[in-house]
Amino acid sequence: MNKTILVTGGSRGIGAATAILAAQKGYAVCISYRRNQVAADRVIEQIQSLGGRAIAVQADVCSELDVIRLFEAIDQTSGTLNALVNNAGISAPARRVEAIDVDRLQQIFATNVIGSFLCAREAIRRMSIERGGPGGAIVNVSSGAARLGSPNEYVDYAASKGAIDTMTIGLAKEVADAGIRVNAVRPGFTHTEIHAAMGEPNRLERVRSTIPMQRGGTAIEVANAILWLLSEEASYCTGAIVDVTGGR
Ligand code: NAP
Repeated sequence: MNKTILVTGGSRGIGAATAILAAQKGYAVCISYRRNQVAADRVIEQIQSLGGRAIAVQADVCSELDVIRLFEAIDQTSGTLNALVNNAGISAPARRVEAIDVDRLQQIFATNVIGSFLCAREAIRRMSIERGGPGGAIVNVSSGAARLGSPNEYVDYAASKGAIDTMTIGLAKEVADAGIRVNAVRPGFTHTEIHAAMGEPNRLERVRSTIPMQRGGTAIEVANAILWLLSEEASYCTGAIVDVTGGR
């Protein structure tokens, strides 16, 4: 039997690379997306052309009802969930804290923090060996921003990822004896569309000289770390946070 993985925000960027790599490693894949169905369909077609199994479900991770519907779709198609990648996330245009408004804060924290908690909750309910599940593994996608704080750009986003690091540490301890490992990756500047969505498509070029390796990362470089943390090769690894930042 194939293992089943859910990658939230699997329609583009790091999530899409993770979903495709997971399929190549033999997982049956479910991706969720917020609104870009064309991009989601493209990922599904790519996985199917590789001989893999995949479904896409529109579900906003900010909505509890959507998250419940997402996991029920997996129950109905694959049955058992073995792995979750809490990847769906947003940033926002560069602003100092004195200029941010409550809508922006609510969007960032609802997507990056509450969304990750809701998906972790649903996954644990299905994976926990204490509840008759098979155990499993969760990887949360944090950010190097959690360490650096991102002054003058998005302290709010950085703080939301700090919450993800803390969640990873606490949840790992909470569910270790339920057979579930919980780890995180902290990507640095990575070539995806998130920078254009924040209003600065050439951001990586601007910051390149601040990265010790003098380049941005690729989505597949982050996906490789995620898939390793999910794998049996990382079987004694829980509560770990892996930086994939080119040394920054
Ligand atoms: P991206 O290219 O902008 O893709 C974001 C993905 O998340 C899309 O699939 C999007 O769906 C989905 N999404 C956004 N909001 C959602 C919501 N409310 N519900 C469900 N899905 C939602 O982003 P990325 O750069 O790959 O980032 C992925 C993760 O890595 C994020 O958590 C981000 O914070 C983190 N990260 C990225 C970088 C970087 O430099 N790229 C660095 C550090 C950390 P749609 O396609 O439908 O919009």
